[in-house]
Amino acid sequence: MRTDPSDHPCYAPFGQLYLVPREHLDLRFCPYHQSVLIRDQKELFRKGITELDALLNDHKSLKIRREAFLNGDYLHGAGCSPQCYWYQTWREGGRSYRSDDYLGNDGRYRVRRIWLSLGPDCNLTCRYCLEPKHFHINYKTCSPAAINLARDLVLRGSNVLLTGGEPFLPKFGLLETFRELANSGQRESQGRFDIQTNGIYLNHDVRRLLLQAPISGIGISMDTLRPDIFEYLRRGASFEKVWDNARSLVRERNAAGLQEPSVTILCAVMRANCDHLAETIDRVVAEGMDISLNVLFKAYFSPDFSRDQSVSNLSLKEMYRLAASLDRISKQYGDDGPVKSQAFRGQLAHIIEQKRRGDVTQVILGTREINTPGKTLREGNMGAAAREWKAALARKFRMSGEAMRKGSVIELIKGGHLLAAAEKAIRLARRILL
Ligand code: SF4
Repeated sequence: MRTDPSDHPCYAPFGQLYLVPREHLDLRFCPYHQSVLIRDQKELFRKGITELDALLNDHKSLKIRREAFLNGDYLHGAGCSPQCYWYQTWREGGRSYRSDDYLGNDGRYRVRRIWLSLGPDCNLTCRYCLEPKHFHINYKTCSPAAINLARDLVLRGSNVLLTGGEPFLPKFGLLETFRELANSGQRESQGRFDIQTNGIYLNHDVRRLLLQAPISGIGISMDTLRPDIFEYLRRGASFEKVWDNARSLVRERNAAGLQEPSVTILCAVMRANCDHLAETIDRVVAEGMDISLNVLFKAYFSPDFSRDQSVSNLSLKEMYRLAASLDRISKQYGDDGPVKSQAFRGQLAHIIEQKRRGDVTQVILGTREINTPGKTLREGNMGAAAREWKAALARKFRMSGEAMRKGSVIELIKGGHLLAAAEKAIRLARRILL
């Protein structure tokens, strides 16, 4: 047990912001937290990093959470999740962080890292993303001006993780930004980009630019190296093309004598690939790449796909088998090597524990099942989608105003407490979505 009250699990509340520009800007310290909404994102992008630093320091809700965090009230006051990798590692005696280390000479914090999600727009229609035929998805919620903010942060030495959708879509102008940074002659003093991509755009010219720009890592979503499963999951992508782009990037980087960018295959573990994880990992590592295991991402996910494929919906027996295979992988490769599995192992252990106790941790409200009116996901507003599902559930089960009671969703349904079950399901679904 930790005894020093100034040691904290991560530096997020002292130097990190997670930005999801949608109808409003969704802002938080990390993906585990509930968001605060910034209505005037144009103004933020216009004012740039000064405004971002001001939000980190002065936004009322963020300040309240940071105070709770500083007081050691991580789970309730700060809103951290017990599933968080940083929190779990810290509790087990891993690295800790001190807030003072992140204060500038002026006694204020600076944004040292952002995670910037560029929105749902993509050149693929993967099975686990929301089906555009069933959902109205607004693809224009992220202003390309967000990239200017990212560029300015990197210029001052901060780091930027870009996710999408697909960050290399031409409309975001990422390649022009990289050219500008590469030509500035200040690569050493600049911060770094980390980019998560589907790998389609990484042709020869793009790869050459990636070796010149300040980029520490490229994460390529592949999930499996079995071509048939890959092309089923990642609808519209050619396995040969993506795998060839990934291997060429490693080869060309090595030939240039560079260490950066690292190339990491991103693997969302699910029913379709968990039976051959070891095979995927061995092949990726043999090519000189890293591999990162994760649960299915939560934003813009397809409820129908997740209900079939989510790790949370495996049986306990299947979960134990998966955990055992992860233990073997961890023994073989260690935890500091090319296989990044600690966070996923922690998440899986938490899911197993909850399932063992009988809680339903992820209730996926399928679109077909619930038949939501219009199946609308307006402007990326997950709260609105959850409210629609709630109303549809209420109609489907003709629910009345029974009080919410403790217990799992299944127990509540068995007990005839349908409204309570729906309420709980909605809360759980919202937690997944947000
Ligand atoms: S949930 Fe985890 S990453 Fe987020 S602030 Fe808490 S400890 Fe840090």
